[in-house]
Amino acid sequence: MKQITVMLGGNLAGTRDAMVRALEKFAAAGVSHIRISSVISSRAVDCVPDTPDFLDMGFTGFWDKSARELLELCQQIEIEAGRPAIHSSRESRILDCDIIFFGDDIINSDRLIVPHPRAKERDFVLIPLAEIVPGQKFPDGESVAEKLKKFKGVEK
Ligand code: ADP
Ligand code: MG
Repeated sequence: MKQITVMLGGNLAGTRDAMVRALEKFAAAGVSHIRISSVISSRAVDCVPDTPDFLDMGFTGFWDKSARELLELCQQIEIEAGRPAIHSSRESRILDCDIIFFGDDIINSDRLIVPHPRAKERDFVLIPLAEIVPGQKFPDGESVAEKLKKFKGVEK
């Protein structure tokens, strides 16, 4: 049994409903003791001009299957929400499910990189994560809360 943390994001009209349905599906598929963050809104980063703002939230829970199976569940939930199976990673999306932490595991396979490589450099990931898993450590030993504090320091 591992504590897992997943971010849900999206920037289309149905995104908020898709997040709620996704949480129900993660629970139904066996993620237990789910705790969720607030939903925060942010401007699109690295996207084409006029891309709608994004909503992002995180949840944490416990999962007793593999990371690969969790990735497959994430991808199935994205597709069921209406995200085309073939898409560019920069285009608008109804729902994106990214695995941020899988216990303290470090995974570097073709299909899965955990901790998620962009998590520690994005405030819209760190802010929700700091609400639910502030003490979770990155492989460099720094916690989510410490990374967020540094990030704010850099931005000001
Ligand atoms: P993005 O999340 O950047 O918008 P996608 O959702 O299209 O991009 O994901 C692209 C690929 O990222 C997926 O096919 C998946 O195999 C890979 N991937 C690597 N690490 C992770 C992770 N930690 N969580 C989710 N997907 C991941
Ligand atoms: Mg993704």
